[in-house]
Amino acid sequence: MPSYILAVDQGTTSSRAMLFDRGGQVAGSAQQEFTQHYPSDGWVEHDPEELWQSVLATCREVLAGMPEGATALGLGITNQRETTLLWDRATGEPLYNAIVWQDRRTAEHCQRLRDAGHADMVQERTGLLIDPYFSATKLAWLLDNVDGARARAERGELAFGTVDTFLIWRLSGGQRHLTDATNASRTALFNIHTQQWDDDLLALFEIPASLLPEVKDSSADFGRVEAQWLGEALPIAGVAGDQQAALVGQACFTPGMAKSTYGTGCFMVVNTGEEPACSHNRLLTTVAYRLNGRTTYAMEGSIFVAGATMQWLRDGLQLFENAAESEALARKTRSGHSVYLVPAFTGLGAPYWDPKARGAILGLTRDTGIAEIVAAGLQAVCYQTRDLQRCMHADMQAPPGKLRVDGGMVKNSWVMQFLADMLGVQVDRPEVLETTALGAAFLAGLQLGWYTSLDELAALWRCEKSFTPSMPDAQRETLYQGWLDAVGRVRSH
Ligand code: ADP
Repeated sequence: MPSYILAVDQGTTSSRAMLFDRGGQVAGSAQQEFTQHYPSDGWVEHDPEELWQSVLATCREVLAGMPEGATALGLGITNQRETTLLWDRATGEPLYNAIVWQDRRTAEHCQRLRDAGHADMVQERTGLLIDPYFSATKLAWLLDNVDGARARAERGELAFGTVDTFLIWRLSGGQRHLTDATNASRTALFNIHTQQWDDDLLALFEIPASLLPEVKDSSADFGRVEAQWLGEALPIAGVAGDQQAALVGQACFTPGMAKSTYGTGCFMVVNTGEEPACSHNRLLTTVAYRLNGRTTYAMEGSIFVAGATMQWLRDGLQLFENAAESEALARKTRSGHSVYLVPAFTGLGAPYWDPKARGAILGLTRDTGIAEIVAAGLQAVCYQTRDLQRCMHADMQAPPGKLRVDGGMVKNSWVMQFLADMLGVQVDRPEVLETTALGAAFLAGLQLGWYTSLDELAALWRCEKSFTPSMPDAQRETLYQGWLDAVGRVRSH
């Protein structure tokens, strides 16, 4: 009888449940979108009950679709990272909506901390920058703005968690208050060197230690799902934040191996091995995964807008009806056109970290048409990846020599070829593009005894198509220089 692992992928816009077989192939999938709440300029929230119900519904749907006699052995969880929840330990009731990673409400708090000179200490201990992106200031906001929350936290009545922790709490019927090292490493409260919550950081952000979950390896015993939820008491056996799970799903297990995910935004993550590599170019140092008590580190660069440019070209400018049409349009452009689209709709992420920059289309000529603008939107993602690659080259002794890609945009082969050309490295697209969920299943499978080594997982990874650079160096450099000029024009400082 077939057996499967259930992967729960609780993302920013939807929750997904997927079944994987031992060969890492998808055997079932269900997805549900949920509401985005924007209560104020720069604020983004999710209703925790809606997140929870979407997870339950998709898990139930996918389990119900299993063939007769098949079994699910356990589950892995991967989740939108940094998103912050606070709930009552006695009732499990959240005190407020989940504050989503994109939320900027704590920008001033972060500025005050930077002005007071704490940035070096925070970076040294957490590998992160002081930025509203991470959980610490979001949690402080909840404690200071929800009536009575700080006093109740001091009395030990409340629990904090990122989405993984909230789901484990709910699934285990309030029995387990746990997270894994990858999710902990995104809170700005966790010391990535000692692998402990850090008292000095807790003091700096004014967070009572009683709120915090226990931090486990990414493959571990995270308790069991109460039978009332999914019909059987499945063990929760693997947990990782979404980008780290994708790194695992892409089998990037040796130093220098890198993956880049091109969805709404783009996240490039490179395995740096057992020593954390500190960035001098404003990339983040983070936990890639922790297995058997051994931590592997990664360096990460985030680009806020990738596929979102295609959504804007489709919905805002109405240049096409479907993102997939962008490929045929881009193929119509003459090579070497000079149009640049800088998608700084909400500022620029790594390595510029310029929240006040705004977007622009530059280099227009009389023969510029829709195709050139669409192509420029696609190319922007490649230029931005080159920006990150440049930082990685400066920060690492052995920068990535190849790139594994995933996410909705990578179906576009024109972009993938331009990406390979712009980076000057081979770009590999895998057969299974659902690498985030696959990574969660792999982590659970290690714990449940399906797999005994990372080598075994690496052998399951299959390349669907490789893109090899073919652009002459001089052309690559001229095009990239044009991008740098364009970015220079939109920056606020
Ligand atoms: P997320 O997980 O962030 O919601 P996905 O990985 O599902 O995103 O990717 C969806 C994104 O990919 C959308 O922004 C969409 O515009 C873009 N996209 C999907 N197909 C294509 C395509 N063929 N070419 C370019 N962009 C695409």
